[in-house]
Amino acid sequence: MTTPVKTVSDKASILIIYTGGTIGMVEDPKTGSLEPFNFEHLVDHVPELKDVEHLYSSIQFDPPLDSSQVGPDSWTKMAKAVADNYDKYDGFVILHGTDTMAYTASALSFMLENLSKPVVITGSQLPIGRFRTDGKENLITAIEIAAAKENNIAVVPEVCICFQEYLLRGNRCKKANADYFEAFQTFNYPPLAHIGVEIEINEDAVYKPETIKPLIPHLNMDPNVLVLKLLPGITPNILKSILATPGLKGVVMETFGVGNAPSFDWFIDILKEATSKGIVIVNVTQCMIGSVAMDIYDTGDAMLDAGIISGYDITTESAATKMMYLFGEGFAPEKVKEYMKCSLIGEMTIHNTVEN
Ligand code: ASP
Repeated sequence: MTTPVKTVSDKASILIIYTGGTIGMVEDPKTGSLEPFNFEHLVDHVPELKDVEHLYSSIQFDPPLDSSQVGPDSWTKMAKAVADNYDKYDGFVILHGTDTMAYTASALSFMLENLSKPVVITGSQLPIGRFRTDGKENLITAIEIAAAKENNIAVVPEVCICFQEYLLRGNRCKKANADYFEAFQTFNYPPLAHIGVEIEINEDAVYKPETIKPLIPHLNMDPNVLVLKLLPGITPNILKSILATPGLKGVVMETFGVGNAPSFDWFIDILKEATSKGIVIVNVTQCMIGSVAMDIYDTGDAMLDAGIISGYDITTESAATKMMYLFGEGFAPEKVKEYMKCSLIGEMTIHNTVEN
């Protein structure tokens, strides 16, 4: 079922959190390279914002960051900004670089427990000062979605990415296109809304909290997690040295197809040695679409024996930030494994539950 969003209500109040990214960048006249600029510059280029000036306030990162510099500390700043202002606003718009936007969206979905207001993340492929910018449209639509309410309840009460034609669940997103305006996709989940002449909300896809509970921000993210993309020909030395990284707690292992990896004894033995030391290894697929199914081939059985767990259809971005969140909460490896097998906030199409 789809429902159109009405135009921005005159009573809404939105907090815009400007973190940086191409949307606010300007060209250095000497070198021609793009550099982050402040929020006032951005507003100057969107005269439409003047009409809704009374509806929003803004805060900004100082200095604004290219999103390749964004990580756990910045996520904590963003989550804290939402939590500190949660009761004052109906919705939040985060302006962010596109490069790591999918990681930020995933991280915030875990860090903001009991979220019942929209946190809409957007940015652009072209700076807002450019004639053909995609930033203006993205920003204005993000504000409309963050402000949208039906019977006084937020229409999209989740962390999402608003980009061009689609509103997408944040923890399902991948940056899929470096060149074209339609930069994001959720390969294993339908869009939350289709943005055209109307903003058509896909009611069946949007997360609806059963009851409105107080927001619980989780501000500790443990960065001792890495992504290991398997390459045909990977050697024992390389695998061993990666898994011997001091302090390592979690590994998102990107495997082939439905979760396959070499079944050589040395490969399984090295993985087993790591899991026996308490390192959590989650198996995700290198494919864009589909899910890990470790019970189809022998290699899956061997990995299950070695203590590797399935990440089903979770994205790498979501698996990595979910582990950072779980280790940041101080959970022991066995508990982290249990939670990794369950969907906490719609990041996987699986309905396992954790026993407390
Ligand atoms: N490098 C930029 C960033 O991610 C790219 C962008 O915003 O599109 O901050």
